[in-house]
Amino acid sequence: MFKKYNVIVVGGGHAGCEAAAAAANLGSSVLLITMNMATIAQMSCNPAMGGVAKGQIVREIDAMGGYSGIIADKTTLQFRMLNRSKGPAMWSPRSQNDRMRFAEEWRLQLEALPNIDIWQDTVKEIIVKDGKANGVVTSLGLAIEGDAVVLTNGTFLNGTIHIGEKRFGGGRTGEKAATGLTEQLVASGFQSGRMKTGTPPRVDGRSLDYTKMEEQWGDDERGRFSFTDVTLPTEQRCCWITYTNEAVHETLKEGFEKSPMFTGRIKGLGPRYCPSIEDKINRFAERDRHQIFVEPEGWKTVEIYVNGFSTSLPEDVQLKALHLIPGFEHARMFRPGYAIEYDYFPPMQLDLTLETHRIKHLFFAGQINGTTGYEEAASQGFIAGINAHQRINDLHELILKRSESYIGVLIDDLVTKGTEEPYRMFTSRAEHRLLLRQDNADARLTPIAHQLGLVSDERLEQVKQKVASADLIVEHLRTHSIDTEAINPVLQELHTSPLTQKTRLFHILTRPQVSIADIARADSTLANLLARYDKAVIEQAEIKVKYDSYFEKEIEIVNKMRRMEDQEINPDFDYTNLVSLSKEAREKLIKVKPRTLGQASRISGVSPSDISVLMVHMS
Ligand code: FAD
Repeated sequence: MFKKYNVIVVGGGHAGCEAAAAAANLGSSVLLITMNMATIAQMSCNPAMGGVAKGQIVREIDAMGGYSGIIADKTTLQFRMLNRSKGPAMWSPRSQNDRMRFAEEWRLQLEALPNIDIWQDTVKEIIVKDGKANGVVTSLGLAIEGDAVVLTNGTFLNGTIHIGEKRFGGGRTGEKAATGLTEQLVASGFQSGRMKTGTPPRVDGRSLDYTKMEEQWGDDERGRFSFTDVTLPTEQRCCWITYTNEAVHETLKEGFEKSPMFTGRIKGLGPRYCPSIEDKINRFAERDRHQIFVEPEGWKTVEIYVNGFSTSLPEDVQLKALHLIPGFEHARMFRPGYAIEYDYFPPMQLDLTLETHRIKHLFFAGQINGTTGYEEAASQGFIAGINAHQRINDLHELILKRSESYIGVLIDDLVTKGTEEPYRMFTSRAEHRLLLRQDNADARLTPIAHQLGLVSDERLEQVKQKVASADLIVEHLRTHSIDTEAINPVLQELHTSPLTQKTRLFHILTRPQVSIADIARADSTLANLLARYDKAVIEQAEIKVKYDSYFEKEIEIVNKMRRMEDQEINPDFDYTNLVSLSKEAREKLIKVKPRTLGQASRISGVSPSDISVLMVHMS
């Protein structure tokens, strides 16, 4: 029935969609096999993309020719740039999305790519020949050949759903679990583990009283994820905020003895930073209320996502507690919250390309690697799809550095340090976060994607022009001065001290109270120059000036570390005979197979003296 494919992607979630699209766009023939075509790119939990550090990841995927940003933009209900009041390294785009439209747009996008075939089925087994993945066997008994296989099974591998004392198999509510793959991989020597995550109940919006809640609107001047020209929906929808209270907490506690978390039925570790409501009540007993974000699931549906109320308590307890929340007194529940336990594969079994050490041409991406979140999954899928294509064509692999992307930080963290609890991205995980901003993701990454053949010449040219235009504005600010009479009235208005002599515009802009638009009000030459450029270019120039000294220091640090980061190690190097290494370092180096000295230095248990041994040996 099937031809032989270049790349077979297993799973049509966020990782699988990006993996299939990336490999196909590079020229591979791709088969995407997924259990249910109706749930392609399903948002299993929150209908939202981005947020702190995650928004930066979506921008990075977009800058490289991935689709998550475009799909998110097309299906936005509400957009906000989080952390605007902080420095630009913290600005994080986030959108509330129409869940059904998001999945639909992904499906249409995949159908529009001629190199992708789609097949609805469940993969039970990987075909391995001569130590290489060579295809898959499905539950319909079909053996399909492929030169590389990318596994993106999400929460489906031996998934078990918990609601109170009820427990049943499932990969998500209403969907079957996937069996067979973990067992085969473990039998081949892979190590697997168990994690858990949870989701809140969904309610009927017609049964809520919004007058008792605080309104939360999106930004007036709406931003976007994609650097491309996507048409955004013309309007935005309102979200709301309400709060739990002590009565809610007391009611939830009534269900604790039936809670699968507290009775020990759930063994897997859950996401620390996305705790269930019962967990919050337990851990932060001193807090008399918790915030609840009331978020619409779409433009047309009345379904509401109760963000902040993730729970696996019995459904009757969930509903009773919901009724005690202001605005939810008469809430009707569409679906109860639940927790799910699933298998994952500790990611230290992977190379930085996301290929497994144990079976060549087999790649893992997404939640299967112990991460949580659509953005983390999508970015890994994107990289795995690229590397699967590059690998089978003997082309150069793509490994993004920690100093050039959050995606690089994510994969380096996973592969080098592993994770025992669901890993999500934070800005604090990136040591060079000042350089890894959402605004410059295109300048950082589009040239790399262009070299791979993932973005067009035209798009690269646009990025180059954006950078050059911002530099031109900065140069203007550096070389032009303004008289005190012209600028002082503006400075007075901004409550910042007046100038006593003619001063360079650049210098004035470094004052935190002053924006480039403020200076332009007093300087018509600058105003005329800015009128030639769009907002993104002007913002870029402004950021470059305001944080100039910090950027310089950061770049200096990156350059200093480059010596270690660029010092390559053969991943198959045999450490067993390097007796001067500590035993622990030797074991870890053999396990992780680092690609560079820099990566080796980040492995826990590899000390600076072990690194010196490696350096001496290498020199
Ligand atoms: P998924 O989106 O899970 O997609 C996996 C896909 O693979 C599915 O389409 C499935 O049908 C398919 N598949 C699986 N096995 C096979 C097989 N053998 N053959 C064929 N197809 C297969 N993230 C957060 O950031 N915060 C949260 O609070 C949060 N809560 C969550 C709550 C729940 C209940 C769930 C289920 C997930 C939650 N997540 C949360 C995680 C988020 O949904 C995932 O991180 C993200 O969807 C992972 O993407 P993925 O592509 O790896 O897998």
